[in-house]
Amino acid sequence: MAARGGKGLGVSALLLIVLAWAGTPATATPPTAAPAAPASASRADTVERDPLETRALLEPEAVLHEVVPAIRNARIANDHRRLALLYLAQANACRVVADWNCQREAGLQARAEARQANAPQLEARGLIAESRARIAMQDYTRGERLLGEAEVLLKASPQPELLADVFLAYSSMSYSLGKHALAAQYAERGLALLAEGEGLTMQARLQRNLARALSQTGRIDEAGDALAEATRLAERLSDPKLGAELYLEAARLARIAGDQTTQRVNGERILVLADRLKNSQLAGLGHEVLGLAAADAGDGDTALRELRAAQQSFRSLELVSDELRVLRELVGFLLRERPSSADLPPLFERFLALDNTLAQNERAQAADDFDARLKYAERENEILRLQAETTLAGERERALAESNRLSRTLMALGILTLIVLAVFFVVQRRSHRRLQGVLAKLGESELQYRTLAENSSDLVVRMQFDGRRLYVSPSTRELLGFEPEELMQPRWELVHPDDRERLRQAIEALARDGGSTTVVYRAQHRHGHYVWIEALARRVTGPEGLPEILYTGRDISTRVRAEQALAAIQARLRAVTDNIPAMIAHIDTQERYTFANGHSGRILSKLPDAVIGRTVREVRGEAIYSEIKGHIAAALRGERVTFEGQAEVDGQTRHYQTSYVPDVGADGKVQGYFSFIFDITQLKTAERELERQARIDGLTGVANRRYFDERLASGVARGRRSGAPIALLYLDIDRFKAINDGRGHAGGDQVLREFARRLKSNVREGDLVARIGGDEFVVLVEGAESLAGVQALAAKLLRAIEAPFELPGGPLAVGTSIGLAYSRRSVTADRLLAAADQALYQAKDAGRATWRAVELD
Ligand code: GH3
Ligand code: MG
Repeated sequence: MAARGGKGLGVSALLLIVLAWAGTPATATPPTAAPAAPASASRADTVERDPLETRALLEPEAVLHEVVPAIRNARIANDHRRLALLYLAQANACRVVADWNCQREAGLQARAEARQANAPQLEARGLIAESRARIAMQDYTRGERLLGEAEVLLKASPQPELLADVFLAYSSMSYSLGKHALAAQYAERGLALLAEGEGLTMQARLQRNLARALSQTGRIDEAGDALAEATRLAERLSDPKLGAELYLEAARLARIAGDQTTQRVNGERILVLADRLKNSQLAGLGHEVLGLAAADAGDGDTALRELRAAQQSFRSLELVSDELRVLRELVGFLLRERPSSADLPPLFERFLALDNTLAQNERAQAADDFDARLKYAERENEILRLQAETTLAGERERALAESNRLSRTLMALGILTLIVLAVFFVVQRRSHRRLQGVLAKLGESELQYRTLAENSSDLVVRMQFDGRRLYVSPSTRELLGFEPEELMQPRWELVHPDDRERLRQAIEALARDGGSTTVVYRAQHRHGHYVWIEALARRVTGPEGLPEILYTGRDISTRVRAEQALAAIQARLRAVTDNIPAMIAHIDTQERYTFANGHSGRILSKLPDAVIGRTVREVRGEAIYSEIKGHIAAALRGERVTFEGQAEVDGQTRHYQTSYVPDVGADGKVQGYFSFIFDITQLKTAERELERQARIDGLTGVANRRYFDERLASGVARGRRSGAPIALLYLDIDRFKAINDGRGHAGGDQVLREFARRLKSNVREGDLVARIGGDEFVVLVEGAESLAGVQALAAKLLRAIEAPFELPGGPLAVGTSIGLAYSRRSVTADRLLAAADQALYQAKDAGRATWRAVELD
């Protein structure tokens, strides 16, 4: 493309193209007759248009004149399709002469006729035309909404060129709001929709927007490319307004390049086209270009004259932002060059007045509005909601996975515990039996006892109460590494210091009280390490009739180590489970708690230790037990169950998710279950809040557009089934912008809240009040008995709003206009809404603060 080399080169190459194109007859010579559409465009232009629409580009005044009788004739013939096409032609002519009210009205009519003709694409074009007018009037809220509607229609009957037109409008709107990067993005998206050679007009305008937006973001070379492309395309079209706009862009780029001659040439060209099209805005822009060029060249007189002319043009059209821009240049120029000029004070005053009050507010609000709308647009809301749901689902998944992981860990630990306990139990039983046998036999005879003692691996000792040993079995060699003879005297130093006292007391008690006792203590092995010994001692009568102590001791070091390991495992298990924010418990087949972690205290309202050994029924109480007993039974049958429930804890309702995981033993039998309870109160609250937010307008607390759409659809469907009439009141606050200007945005917000409150308190419970746009509200009345009844409601609402609004800056009179649509028969949601919207327009046109009603057949 042309602009690759550098800034200067890119721009001049581009200007050459523009100049070359300017020489083509389509724009340089006023046409004498209606030109046929250029041959190259016929294939490209796939959208159906009335010839008048194409002519409007060249002779808007003539078309505005001729379209009136054509509309009249089509109306007589009741040809809605033709009417729609004619209104679109009219809208286009209005656009060329920058008469936005006229364009808005024509767009509105076009869409109404297209709907009657059941031509969705024409309807979308009507919407686009109306929306463009609104955007040009800086009513971004409604403009954006209309574009959204057009987009929806086009989704159902796709047409790339029209969809590209929607993006073009979004791009223009973004540009007007100073969002240049976004404007470029929209233009690129529009271009992406169109194939090579398709929708040439649209491509040219999108390239123009792209160029304009890129030059604002400092991407001058790319802007030059886009403008060159726009110009190349425009050469094949007969659209002087577009031509003028391209001159304007060329002038802007030339200004950046410091080329005043080219600026001037383009300014003059714009003025010629403005005059031909009778377009005062273009004239203003032409003067602005010339003024700026003169100012840059140091020609003060010309600069002042041209800029003043530009300001006057914009002022007469009430194009505030255009006027402000020129005023900024004018004031800046005078301050620099002619600070004592008498023109300066009034201009400065005008600038400040516009800038400080109107423009700034307006821009900020419109931008906020647009931002907020983009952000909170229904689909975004939907995406947010879906994202949140995904996150919630993820949370649940995570919680479940956590509980799975835990249950596996617990089961592993549980099984380990069981194994250890089983081993311990078996070992203990076996040794106990052996001991019993030994003792029984001891009683039989000394010989037998000796034989047994000699052959036992247990330590067998007979001793007198003074500590003297009568017998020490040979197993002491194996057990402690000492010869029996070495242990014939008391050897207290071999007993672990911590255990000595206990052992001494046990022997004393035995001597005193008789019977038997079991003591566990540590004795030192000859090699220095300690051996855990479990001794069973009893007082017996010796062969000489004297009392003596007979004891057998066993090495239980292995068992003690196992027990210590078990205790460590249990401590670890508790540490793990106590630090997991879930309530974990184990319940056996008798429904008794065998384990409960620290967190369990929260829900069981008891210390975990206090529940061990008690049944679920005792601990949880009759009411909860009856709710969960089915789940318990399922878990004990071996099923895994998960359920949600709630409970009052410290006066607050908390939500829980519970999982029961069967505890299946090695033999495959269920020996209880693990219970995992997670507190999901926060999740629940978040879920509910999301649900609420998705339906409620944040500012006023009444229903939002999304909820209204749902209710309208379901209300209409219900009406269709039951035959009950349905009514819709569409309210729009009168001159709300002035309220915002006078009382500030916050004051405006307060009015919106009070307005919503009054609506709500004046309708019946079953009626729906919703805020569906900036200052737009609706009331949906299902089963309205009569039109008169709803009219009375409209009158009542008007009265309710009449009472002054109390605001910090003093009381304020607020008015509203109401459009009412009433249908006794089956009606579609769109039709009802469109009828109420139309009625609202009529109410506004009738001077506001009133209502208008339409009864649909
Ligand atoms: P009309 O009588 O024709 O309705 O005139 P109007 O001034 O009320 O015009 P319109 O209804 O088009 O203006 C709505 C304005 O509401 C535009 C926008 O700046 C403003 N607006 C939109 N959303 C909000 C909001 O949330 N808070 C405030 N304070 N203003 C808002
Ligand atoms: Mg309003």
